Amino acid sequence: MRVLRPQMIVAAVVLSVSIVGAQTKITPPKNKYSPSDDVKLGRDAAAQVEQQLPLLRDDNVTSYVSDIGQRLVDAIPAELRHPEFRYTFKVVNVKEINAFALPGGPMYVNRGMIQAAKTEGEVAGVVAHELSHVALRHGTAQATKATPYEIGTIAGAILGAIVGGNAGSAIAQGTQFGLGTAFLRYSREYEKQADIEGSQIMARAGYDPRDMANMFRTIEQQGGSAGPQWLSDHPNPGNRYAYITQEAQSLHVVNARHDSSGFQSVQAHLRGMPPAPSTEEATKNTRTGRNPNTRGGGETNSGRISTNVERPSSRYSSYDEGNLFRISVPSNWRELPGNNSVTFAPEGGYGSLNQQSVFTHGIEAGVMRNESHQLETATDELIQSLAQSNPRMRRSRGYDRDTIGGRNGLHATLSNQNDATGRTERIALYTTMLNDGTLFYLLGVAPDDEYGNYDQVFNRIADSLRFIESH
Ligand SMILES: [Zn+2]
Repeated sequence: MRVLRPQMIVAAVVLSVSIVGAQTKITPPKNKYSPSDDVKLGRDAAAQVEQQLPLLRDDNVTSYVSDIGQRLVDAIPAELRHPEFRYTFKVVNVKEINAFALPGGPMYVNRGMIQAAKTEGEVAGVVAHELSHVALRHGTAQATKATPYEIGTIAGAILGAIVGGNAGSAIAQGTQFGLGTAFLRYSREYEKQADIEGSQIMARAGYDPRDMANMFRTIEQQGGSAGPQWLSDHPNPGNRYAYITQEAQSLHVVNARHDSSGFQSVQAHLRGMPPAPSTEEATKNTRTGRNPNTRGGGETNSGRISTNVERPSSRYSSYDEGNLFRISVPSNWRELPGNNSVTFAPEGGYGSLNQQSVFTHGIEAGVMRNESHQLETATDELIQSLAQSNPRMRRSRGYDRDTIGGRNGLHATLSNQNDATGRTERIALYTTMLNDGTLFYLLGVAPDDEYGNYDQVFNRIADSLRFIESH
């Protein structure tokens, strides 16, 4: 026996060399942001998350999840380590099966996810997958493709997408006009990367990557009120189980850690607590109304709504927005940058009323990602998103064809009753597709009884629009 030992060590070394040769090499996608941008974004977003979502402050549970997380962090390969990143692990006391990680490292695992898992390996699988999105910097890589806006203005959009579901749209409503979850969901390509990289990290940390596939199955089988939000943010790239299993085989994991006494006792501990609320119940008190007027950090521009708003000036000022477009608006309107959008409004036409942020006069320009890349379908989706946060919004008739910024576009008129002011308002909507498949929109808003002063203004603004360079 004693004599055999050195030979076993040699065999193990040889084996680990062959593992390296067989595993799939993952290259992080193109990214125009720096790792310290990731850190800043993640920190801003984490502050919002922790305002909105109830954290489970229970040392047993938190340290159990942190230990799994740390074991996986230690297994991140050298080329994906960023010295600026700080991985932290917190548990959210809500019942939905979900977990999300923010750029630069803050990770949140829902209590519902831990309770739905059948083994520790399954919890580790979700954590490894999320860690891989962070290490591969998918949030900012997606932003690199998706938006021409500056880093500070996309925090809310990324957050809305990553948090997803009701919490995501609650946060997004506070930051970007309720369009939240339509932005920046992970693409199937990034999903596959996170699955493969996560498998390799799991194997190196002593877990079986097939437990990740098992957890995805568990999530898929759950429905109902605890709906699998995780899946809509992490779409199945197709044959997920097959390629994870294949990767697991090439990694030759032996004696993997599937279950543990720690897992059993944490589950028993959680069962003994009062049931977790849904995210919607937990965030009801923090939900805000329509609010285009906040910056990335969620701070509100301190406007004040007035019933007496100065008419649009006949003089116009021109603005360059990022490297995307140029637009002219009445010179007595202020520029209010938002997330994936910018609003121009007169004094008294934006601000806070009855604890809701409101926008009553002016125009918003923005971009929205969409799956269809088809103008009419994407415009329908935009209107549906708007209607979610503005339930009294109606479209009076169909679309008119129009030219927007020299491109084929659509023009529609909507009506709405503003929740905060109680006034009926009219909305002029203009849309066109950009070359990267995002939908560009202009949204002019004015009260019904003042619309006569604004109709021509919105048309003139739409006519002034010019896209820059390749968009
Ligand atoms: Zn994912």
